[in-house]
Formats: sequence, C-alpha cells, structure tokens
Amino acid sequence: MSVVDDLTQRNKAFVDSEFDVNLNIMPSMKTVIIGCVDPRVDPANIFGLKPGEAAVIRNVGGRINPATLQNMAIVRSVAVAEGKDVGPGWNLIVLHHTDCGITPCLAHAPALLAKNLGVEVTELDNLAIPDPYAAVALDVAALKANPQLPGGFLVTGMVYDVATGKVEVVVPSALLRP
Ligand SMILES: [Zn+2]
Repeated sequence: MSVVDDLTQRNKAFVDSEFDVNLNIMPSMKTVIIGCVDPRVDPANIFGLKPGEAAVIRNVGGRINPATLQNMAIVRSVAVAEGKDVGPGWNLIVLHHTDCGITPCLAHAPALLAKNLGVEVTELDNLAIPDPYAAVALDVAALKANPQLPGGFLVTGMVYDVATGKVEVVVPSALLRP
C-alpha cells in the first residue's frame, strides 16, 4: 500500500469517527501554538489536542521569525473577519524541543537559516539556537517586545523533551504586555 493509499484510508476512519462539521474556524481553546516541524513534536499528539481546539503554526525550530509574525497577523485578521479578535483571554504558547534539527542546520546551512530567521549570519549566535531552554525565553521576550501583537495574550514558553515525552514550562504564563 502506498503512503497516499494509507492516508486516504485513515481519512475515511477520521470521517467516521472524529470529524465534526460544527467546528469553528476560531480555536475553541482560544490558543495559538508556535512549534517545530519535527514529526516527534506535533502539539496535537503531545497535548492530546482534539480537532478545532488550537491554531498551530509550525516552522523549523518553532522560532519567532518574520513568516511566523506574518502568519499571526493573518490569524488575527481572520478573527476580525469573524467579528472577533485575538488577545485578551487567548493563550500564545511557544514550544521548543530538545534534539532539534535547527542545531545541525546552524552548522551546515547558516546562510539558509539566517534568511529563514530574518537575521544576518553574524547575528545567529545571538539566538541561542543549540539551547532550546534559552531560545524559548528569547522568543517569548521577542513576542513581548513586538508592538504589533495584541497585548492581552497570555504567553508561555515551553520545552518538550524528546527523550521523556514531558513538557516543561520554561517561561511561566504572563500577559504579553501587562
Ligand atoms: Zn525541531
């Protein structure tokens, strides 16, 4: 069986079990999660998310980069189009993880990584790329310093350990701007 055949069959099972036509475009947990593309760290798996509960933005490393900020702006515009807004009452979670492929990328493709992160190659050292615990704190600080984001978000920094399956809160929840 090909992968596509396998996925198509799994979709049939999904239609028969979990699919809910009444789900809303806005996440029911009022939560946006920024995480890594690594297949081991899918927030749906590690947090047991059900369909419709959270909006998830994934990139290499779960870093706050220009594309992530653009996506967040679009998420907000979708909320506004729905007659709502993101911000007060919403959670914003930055989820980094151990053994991230962004670290070898730093050594083997620094120019590509710098472009992705919107910095010069010489600035990569400032981003704590090999240390997810330091990096998640930097990224939460970057979000808090961004005046374009709605201040009412409750922002939290977490690190997932691929060796244990456990998530640790590294930056406790706090308003993006008090
Ligand atoms: Zn990763």
